[in-house]
Amino acid sequence: MPHKDPVRRAEYQKKYRAGIPIDYERKRGLIKARRLRVAVLAYLGNKCVRCGFDDARALQVDHILGGGRKEKADGNTYRIYRNVINGRAGYQLLCANCNWIKRYENQAVEMPGRTRNG
Ligand SMILES: [Zn+2]
Repeated sequence: MPHKDPVRRAEYQKKYRAGIPIDYERKRGLIKARRLRVAVLAYLGNKCVRCGFDDARALQVDHILGGGRKEKADGNTYRIYRNVINGRAGYQLLCANCNWIKRYENQAVEMPGRTRNG
């Protein structure tokens, strides 16, 4: 959602529903975000540190010591990306599978019917 202002948001949604192409400003934002993500993945080695999986679509920036949820809640994904690019330590790349497995191992999540081991 590109607009916090409810009036601008309503205009955007109206255009979106009508099939009018998203505006230049929005498109530019997406391109910028895309470039930032590509740079972050390259900086962190372009593959999962656990299993070597290297399809960028399923790679996620992980906090080595946890705390990703809190940081995301505090700001946004781009802040994390900027931290990585600015050389802040403590981040690694995990694929989606390894990230979930790590969460179970750290007991950060519980899901019905699943245990730490499967
Ligand atoms: Zn992995």
